[in-house]
Amino acid sequence: MVSGGAQGASLKAVVFDLDDTLLPEWQYVRSAYGAVARHVYRDPPRAQEARDWLWSRFLRGEHSGALNALLERAGRGEEEVGPLLEVYRAHLPAVRLNAGVRRTLSDLRGAGLKLGVISDGPLITQQRKVEALGLGDWVDEIRLTDAWGRDYWKPHARAYQDLSERWGLTGPELAYVGDNLAKDFIAPQALGWRTVCLRRRRQVHAARRAGPGGAAQVTVHSWAALDALLRSWQGE
Ligand SMILES: [Mg+2]
Repeated sequence: MVSGGAQGASLKAVVFDLDDTLLPEWQYVRSAYGAVARHVYRDPPRAQEARDWLWSRFLRGEHSGALNALLERAGRGEEEVGPLLEVYRAHLPAVRLNAGVRRTLSDLRGAGLKLGVISDGPLITQQRKVEALGLGDWVDEIRLTDAWGRDYWKPHARAYQDLSERWGLTGPELAYVGDNLAKDFIAPQALGWRTVCLRRRRQVHAARRAGPGGAAQVTVHSWAALDALLRSWQGE
């Protein structure tokens, strides 16, 4: 290890957030709109039309109330919103890792870094995303916090501590990459990890403000810049 690194230890492992970090949320939402539209309209052309309608609504900035709006448009009762939410959450999303993400993960792993994922959200939903993306082939460890219950969603430290122990690594040997200043960085900052906020266009939580201890140390705006930053930390 070369001394003089700002934080005293070289990087050995990188842990990523899933939603709006590895997987742009808008890509997931678009897929989910297709699933709920096909559930409400059995006729494929009408389902397609309804999906496009939901999507144009989203592009106008209407990110909530989609399921109620869809039911109303179809003349269906709002009591169907519960089952429709299940369809939304449990569908196998038509998503894949973007080229820049694949390139970075492959480069980091090839350089000998351990890779992990920590993600909140309803368990079935996150499991389906992991399945659709084939994430198990890209990273070494995945922690879906909902498997322990909602109390363990970020900012709870359990998943971060779990990976730290799993790999026998601590503090600045680990980095967390996420997008949500309200919850992603609180635990890893407290544990002395390095933290990076990835800012991309159209992120759902980009406007969130950091609370005490919630800011990331560094912000980057592309996967290439992230890759270069992490490799430089590895070389410290
Ligand atoms: Mg996120």
